[in-house]
Amino acid sequence: MTKKPAGNLQDPITYVLTLIPAEPPERAIRLRRQIMAVYSYCLLWVGTILGVELSAFAPNTPHLMMFSVLFAINLVFFLLIRSGLSERLGDPSLTILQMATGIILTTVILHYTRELRGAMLSIYFMVMTFGIFALDRRRQMAMAGFTLFCFTTLQVYEWLETPQQAIFSFLIGHWIILALILCWFIYMGGYIHNLQNRVRDQRENLRDAHSRLEAIAVRDDLTGLYNRRHFLERLEEELSLANRNHTPLYLAIIDLDHFKRVNDNYGHHSGDEVLSRFARIASQGLRKSDLLARYGGEEFVVLFPHATEAACEAALERLRRRFAEQGYSFASDIKTTFSAGLTAFQPGETADQLIKRADSALYGAKSRGRNQVVQLPLS
Ligand code: GH3
Ligand code: MG
Ligand code: MG
Repeated sequence: MTKKPAGNLQDPITYVLTLIPAEPPERAIRLRRQIMAVYSYCLLWVGTILGVELSAFAPNTPHLMMFSVLFAINLVFFLLIRSGLSERLGDPSLTILQMATGIILTTVILHYTRELRGAMLSIYFMVMTFGIFALDRRRQMAMAGFTLFCFTTLQVYEWLETPQQAIFSFLIGHWIILALILCWFIYMGGYIHNLQNRVRDQRENLRDAHSRLEAIAVRDDLTGLYNRRHFLERLEEELSLANRNHTPLYLAIIDLDHFKRVNDNYGHHSGDEVLSRFARIASQGLRKSDLLARYGGEEFVVLFPHATEAACEAALERLRRRFAEQGYSFASDIKTTFSAGLTAFQPGETADQLIKRADSALYGAKSRGRNQVVQLPLS
């Protein structure tokens, strides 16, 4: 049988040619955002061409040159993100660089606007919008400061270049409007950013709570072992696997001997200590693939998948000896033992039938005098 390549491994050529590969997902989001920016620039270019045609822009507006440079810069950004190189930088989305490019372009476009300057200021805010979800308040303030710096430089340049065309009240008016709206952006942006952080925290808390609940649902409180319900679910799965693959499967039921006496003589707490001790040495002594669970009271079960009869017997014997060697703080002379019934899964039988036979084996161990492992059918 030929082996298929693992899950999402793709042909390398297809991978290189794919514009936005699905993996890794964070990179795909960044690339999509990048394409969104390029799409916005296309719209802006169309707007600029129309503006020139309608004489709202200076007729000598070098839009072809401006947008060619812009698209070349964006291509570099795209390649940096697409290749994963941007992930080595502090800002893998290149948000700050992309916004700075947008702000500089807007400033250059504004230079060629005439009556439309007030309306065209809104392009700055389109660029600022990109930062709202990605930047914290400090970085948003830095970008707003950069925007104001670019616009002020433009105004000063125009004032010096053509003072006769500059209308002071317009210059001040535009400057104040821009500064006020940028302040509003910082305020709203910070608020949205905090909101986003809070949603992220809540999502993480929910995920934690969910995994804690999941652990509670499958574990026994006292011993930390799997509980009966989880064991029965896993047993069904292991039975169908063993049936399908014709692999061996053994089940042992372990019952502590004369456990009631521990409770009666030393108290319930001491009984709990014995149960926890058994759980600890059993978890340490068994293989990771063995499924150990508390079946109820002082009864435990172990499911041994892919094991041999001799290996199961050896594991139970080892456990029996270690358990008998345990010393306890509440009584120095006490010796704790258990009896166990072991049985092999017979193809086609139900979980109930398997458990019943292991239980009969356990009964055999008890009636033969306890502190031993009995296997059924007797070999
Ligand atoms: P045998 O050797 O025949 O198994 O005798 P036994 O005394 O172990 O069995 P029996 O069924 O008479 O008593 C089991 C006792 O286990 C009774 C019950 O109070 C106690 N028990 C069940 N669950 C817990 C528990 O969580 N903590 C403690 N301390 N005792 C428990
Ligand atoms: Mg019992
Ligand atoms: Mg018992």
